[in-house]
Amino acid sequence: MLKPRYLTNPYLSYFNLDGTVSSSLESCSPSKLVAKDPLVQEQNTDNVQRKITPWKCMNIETDLLDTQRLSATKEREYPGLIVIASLIDRLPNLGGLCRTCEILGVGKMTIPSAAAVKERDFTGVSVTAEQWLPMEEVPENQLIQYIMALKSAGWSIVAIEQASKSVPLQSFQFPEKCAILLGKEREGVPVEVLNHVDYCVEIPQHGLIRSFNVHVTGSIVLWEYVRQRIQ
Ligand code: SAH
Repeated sequence: MLKPRYLTNPYLSYFNLDGTVSSSLESCSPSKLVAKDPLVQEQNTDNVQRKITPWKCMNIETDLLDTQRLSATKEREYPGLIVIASLIDRLPNLGGLCRTCEILGVGKMTIPSAAAVKERDFTGVSVTAEQWLPMEEVPENQLIQYIMALKSAGWSIVAIEQASKSVPLQSFQFPEKCAILLGKEREGVPVEVLNHVDYCVEIPQHGLIRSFNVHVTGSIVLWEYVRQRIQ
């Protein structure tokens, strides 16, 4: 009788949840498996994480170099999608948004200053996403000029803001070539910038708190753009 694949596949590593690595399945109970192979998922009775290699077990050099080779040839999944984060000040929000953009296949992200990606408060959340996601420095004082240039090149500018003319997210069909503009953590999107956008979209709220965190907002909206296209 053939051994199940996860008993014979030499490329599988079995990471126990305490971070130790088991050389083979026999030496760890399936319930502790963190399997790297999707097939294991099907054959295991327990629901285990797939492919998640705990960071401390990653061989950063080889694993990331492989990613680099992959990303150097891999087209971005959504090249028409740009996230304009030039109004965001707080480094953890920028770093988190960079990570979300990279994971969801966003084409490009703008930031207010290129220096941000060197800051620990950024890299602590971005976990190297800035090395794989195309990024462009667009300071706030060049934002309107940048928006006008994008519009001339065929992009639709979609501000994400709680504004008098916002449309609810669930009713909005995102254009393919779309630049999503997020606002300042405290003041939001300035009115002089809002006057230059094509659409304004709002995430319906039901609680008492005034607004979402800006990275959370970006994540919800980006997923909706992807959801409208995912095969
Ligand atoms: N307008 C907010 C302040 C900005 S919140 C307030 O009065 O509290 C920071 C940014 O997060 C906003 O500029 C917007 O881009 C985004 N944001 C937060 N909650 C949102 C929502 N419910 N709908 C759309 N955008 C939101």
